Amino acid sequence: MRPYILVVEDEAPLITLLRYNLEEAGFDVEEATDGEEALISVRERRPDLVVLDWMLPVVSGIEVCRQFRRRRETRDLPVIMLTARSEEADRIRGLDSGADDYISKPFSPKELIARIRAVLRRTRPSMSAEQLTFADIEMDLTAHKVTRGGRATHLGPTEFRLLRHFMEHPGRVFSREQLLDSVWGHDVYVEPRTVDVHIRRLRKALDVGRSPDVIRTVRSAGYAMELQ
Ligand code: CA
Repeated sequence: MRPYILVVEDEAPLITLLRYNLEEAGFDVEEATDGEEALISVRERRPDLVVLDWMLPVVSGIEVCRQFRRRRETRDLPVIMLTARSEEADRIRGLDSGADDYISKPFSPKELIARIRAVLRRTRPSMSAEQLTFADIEMDLTAHKVTRGGRATHLGPTEFRLLRHFMEHPGRVFSREQLLDSVWGHDVYVEPRTVDVHIRRLRKALDVGRSPDVIRTVRSAGYAMELQ
């Protein structure tokens, strides 16, 4: 199950940026653009974590957080507060309102994702992304270990990142270019063919005993992880 994150923010470009990055990181995302909508939304579907902007129209982020804490159903809802304020006093006020963590704008999506994972680890140990599972493949992200059918397999660092990406998005087809962007990073120039080499290595590493191949080659499109 993908952890469900509610993003409460009134700036459209930031919503778009957060949605894109959070979905890429394997989260399920919904948005609310003001405090009232946020309060209604959590009643309809309880998120695993709320990313809450401080400066919101109608009801401020601080007030939304206080209301979460006042209600029994949302008392322990994990909240990360976003704000342009970086003063120590404001930070303390934010945490006083009951937020679990606090991040000042501008921030990088990577930093926010790391904070989200840290809060989820603390508040929902079973939901944290420390362990990924697909069929009989298990990935321990902390210990950097991969097993298939209970047997250890050894992956190079690129194969490890590649596998992680597939396991975070099972069933989705990725082009070589998309894999290069997500797994190698935007700044690195690598030939798309390189992806094929690492896919080959990954397949070989996952070929433990008589296990079926879980990486599907999608002709002229790319690769996907699925049971075939
Ligand atoms: Ca705002």
